[in-house]
Amino acid sequence: MKLLVIGGGGREHALAWKLSLSPRVHKVFVAPGNAGTALEPGLENISITAIPELIEFATKESIAITIVGPEIPLAAGIVDAFRAAGLKIFGPTRQAAQLETSKIFAKEFMQRHHIPTAAYARFTNPELAHAYIEQHPIPLVIKADGLAAGKGVVVAQSREEAHSAVSALLVEKHLGSAGQEIIIEEFLQGIEVSFIVMTDGNHILPLVTSQDHKRLNDGDLGPNTGGMGAYSPAPFVSPSLHAQIMRNIIDPVINGLKQDGIRYTGFLYAGLMITAGDQAKVLEFNCRLGDPETQPIMLRLKSDLLPLIEHAVNGTLDQADIEWDRRTALGVVMAAQGYPENPRKNDAIYGLQDLITEQENAGNFHIFHAGTSMGGKNGNEIVTAGGRVLCVTVLGDSVKMAHQAAYKLVENIRFDGAQVRHDIGHQGINYQRG
Ligand code: ATP
Repeated sequence: MKLLVIGGGGREHALAWKLSLSPRVHKVFVAPGNAGTALEPGLENISITAIPELIEFATKESIAITIVGPEIPLAAGIVDAFRAAGLKIFGPTRQAAQLETSKIFAKEFMQRHHIPTAAYARFTNPELAHAYIEQHPIPLVIKADGLAAGKGVVVAQSREEAHSAVSALLVEKHLGSAGQEIIIEEFLQGIEVSFIVMTDGNHILPLVTSQDHKRLNDGDLGPNTGGMGAYSPAPFVSPSLHAQIMRNIIDPVINGLKQDGIRYTGFLYAGLMITAGDQAKVLEFNCRLGDPETQPIMLRLKSDLLPLIEHAVNGTLDQADIEWDRRTALGVVMAAQGYPENPRKNDAIYGLQDLITEQENAGNFHIFHAGTSMGGKNGNEIVTAGGRVLCVTVLGDSVKMAHQAAYKLVENIRFDGAQVRHDIGHQGINYQRG
């Protein structure tokens, strides 16, 4: 059977690679993909991004199921459009995707369904927002309502920073319509965890837990990014905390959506803060898998991914079996010079070729590509083409062992200006050290 994966990042490389290992799949098209998906056996890139053309392609090629990676096509209604054309697609509708595309929608939804989250207020009027800042303790978190590719959140450590974030969004309109309404939120202290599930709208299949590293620099310092590395499992999530998250957050979300007349099919990501006393609170929802969390999660997935998606699309996810590698998988992101503000493109990447052969033989690591393309003089060199370039993902018996093995591989890969954090997994390593 033939499948289509929408997107071109590390998450889509990992998804498409995993799907291509299914014995029932003979081709996975990736739209638009990257150099990694171009070189992977069983995958083929197609340079189409417009929804009507994707529908035409899926119809002509008899694509069995389309799987959507990023939020932008979901927000644009790709699922609604494919379904209207009689095509099978895995992902939430535009209406369901509002859990991610509007932070105000998500906050009101959580309030309505008693899902634990930070206290907040919403504003369109800058004067009222400034007054609120004066009346509340710092730090405060200022968030644009709409999608902003990770640029819509400021964790303000001072009142001045909070005031200028409000002005940037509501007065100077730095994010345009995405920031025309904002929320100001209580700062939550704790450990961040990514909790991702698959759902068919009725049944829920939790994936393994993971943890991302949002900040650019070691020690969780510097600007927010799309994610500089991730690992799975997040060892802080004990069985009782896992049960609490399912009971207090995930079940009420799926039931709440149903009560509100919204059927959600797809991956659902809850970004959580584990606060004092092991209380999980929601920071945000994403209506898709996280990137880079997907890369370690896919490396740990032992089951065939295809039947899981088929069950989810067909409403029979309660019948799905899922098996995981018990080891830790850890992914280190190599980002381009200038990321996240202004990533430089077209730097040649060296050292990948040898690792491709090695990864097939070893089977315990995979180099997932994100911002890469085929370029150079003859068009056959792998060059940087985006902010996050690669995610070097490795299995190990502990977070520390996976961390050491990942960095050993990173040493073999070079490109000018590469930015790499050196402490991916630090919270997990400290936790396991006891
Ligand atoms: P993404 O790129 O994951 O879509 P986003 O722009 O939607 O991110 P959030 O995930 O809501 O933004 O916030 C980004 C980061 O800011 C979080 O991962 C977390 O580190 C921090 N953050 C957000 N809200 C809070 C909060 N209430 N308290 C403390 N930190 C927070």
